[in-house]
Amino acid sequence: MMRAKKAFGVSPIEEPPAPLRTKSALGPRGRAWPGVAREGGPVDVFVRDHVRDSLGVSWGFSREVEEGGFLFGEVHRDADAPSRWLVVVTEVIRAEHTEEAPDALVFSPESFASMRRHAEAKRDGASILGWFHTHLVAGPEDRGLSVVDRDLHFSTFRRPWQVAALVCVDPARDPEGREVSFFARQGDFLVPCAVEVLA
Ligand SMILES: [Zn+2]
Repeated sequence: MMRAKKAFGVSPIEEPPAPLRTKSALGPRGRAWPGVAREGGPVDVFVRDHVRDSLGVSWGFSREVEEGGFLFGEVHRDADAPSRWLVVVTEVIRAEHTEEAPDALVFSPESFASMRRHAEAKRDGASILGWFHTHLVAGPEDRGLSVVDRDLHFSTFRRPWQVAALVCVDPARDPEGREVSFFARQGDFLVPCAVEVLA
């Protein structure tokens, strides 16, 4: 679960129309990422290999408190199905200035301000693709997003292509084989996205 202290609209200052792109034009595929390739949602997620490595393996996440951060990258419309989106996660950063609450981590206004500064400083046109946070897995119910998570996504990440990534920190599988899922908005729900790794 994760909460925002208040709703912030998170969107790029300038938003050029997303270009049409085929999936194959996004580049060669990298290593498979078992457990995350699901179909059906309105957004297909592609992650650079270093992003896969950070979220899935190399970053050390707390086993006591939830952590989170933000995703940056490219937005394309699927040339083969223009109502669908293809997003490429090229960078992930851990949030600063989060606050610990009894049941969840809280993004503070400073967390969002620092994310915006990061996006503006890059000046490479990267969009704020969404956010991630960890769940400390103690049972199957922890492997999905909570109602609070959904409310935060709907109030804060309003673009149809913005995604929420969930990193399951399961002591039995962490860090090798850490499960990471991505979700995008479809109507009133957040549905799983298909995920592929780009080399
Ligand atoms: Zn959560």
